[in-house]
Amino acid sequence: MNRILVTGGAGYIGSHCCKALAAAGFEPVVYDNLSTGHRHFCKWGPLVPGDIRDPDTLSRTIQAMRPVAVMHFAAQSIVPRSTADPQETFDVNVAGTLNLLEVMKTYGVNQMVFSSTCAIYGNAASGPIGEDAAGSPITPYGTSKAMVESILASYEAAYGLRSVRLRYFNAAGAAEDAAVGEWHEPETHLIPIVLDVALGLRPALQINGTDYDTADGTAVRDYIHVEDLARAHVAALSHLLDGGGGVSVNVGTGAGHSVSEIVQAVSRVTRRPVPTVHGPRRAGDPSRLVANARRAGSLLAWQPRKDIEAMIRDAWAFHQDLRRTEGISTLIA
Ligand code: UDP
Repeated sequence: MNRILVTGGAGYIGSHCCKALAAAGFEPVVYDNLSTGHRHFCKWGPLVPGDIRDPDTLSRTIQAMRPVAVMHFAAQSIVPRSTADPQETFDVNVAGTLNLLEVMKTYGVNQMVFSSTCAIYGNAASGPIGEDAAGSPITPYGTSKAMVESILASYEAAYGLRSVRLRYFNAAGAAEDAAVGEWHEPETHLIPIVLDVALGLRPALQINGTDYDTADGTAVRDYIHVEDLARAHVAALSHLLDGGGGVSVNVGTGAGHSVSEIVQAVSRVTRRPVPTVHGPRRAGDPSRLVANARRAGSLLAWQPRKDIEAMIRDAWAFHQDLRRTEGISTLIA
């Protein structure tokens, strides 16, 4: 069976991709330092504990596992943390990736699906953003991902290491069977926070900015179901395994939802009230990020299948389980 090395495979998006890889007949080998990932999210193949900045462990792993390709998720991906501590973000995201690429080169692994982001567009435009949009990152996190995209293009030109750089918009939801889902400590993402409010675990959602240039004044994002995102990774991998060349591809739905619309949708799906308070804008937040995802359709034959209600429904099922289990562990402890 073809093995795929999945760095960061114990995390939110990485674990869903492992599930999708296994369903498509691959064996995912997770390589993760478990700094933010969860050991029990690794259900579809072996877990090798290790850091992408550690060339020895990486070399031993690639030598032993002989993967045909790498899916690279391991990163410092918390945007506010990147602003507070850019050194850490550049060290993990850029130096760590360079290290990984060198080990791949040494062992002749020359295909990678890279976890990129719409944060590389910064405040690009108010309409749907295509891959060629002008715009530049406004946070160290976005900058680090843009730098890796450039490095990958150079590696393809010089060494023939081909990569698909998937630029995610806002991943949301959980596996439909609730096997894995979104769980960050601390949580900074909108939907899990709103779900905590619906559960009564937080008094209210603070809306970060109500004076944006959008229909209701709150920031608009393109939320994409994490299972749709995982399918895009498998499609990108097939593109590379079929000999396809390196490319950057947006992964979004093309539909934007404001923070207020998310609050209403959560209230509708959970049938619970979601109190809100108004707060200031969060540093580094663009007003509107919505994908033009046509390239993913034409090049990877990929289309999103799940709408915002499905994302919230799946997230809600996982989130209730998560908080229930956490409650039980607190009682046992
Ligand atoms: N947001 C908010 N309150 C929160 C968390 C997030 O208003 O408690 C807003 C955030 O400022 C952004 C949107 O929700 O405008 C989506 O944020 P998230 O962190 O989920 O994703 P991002 O777009 O930053 O990657």
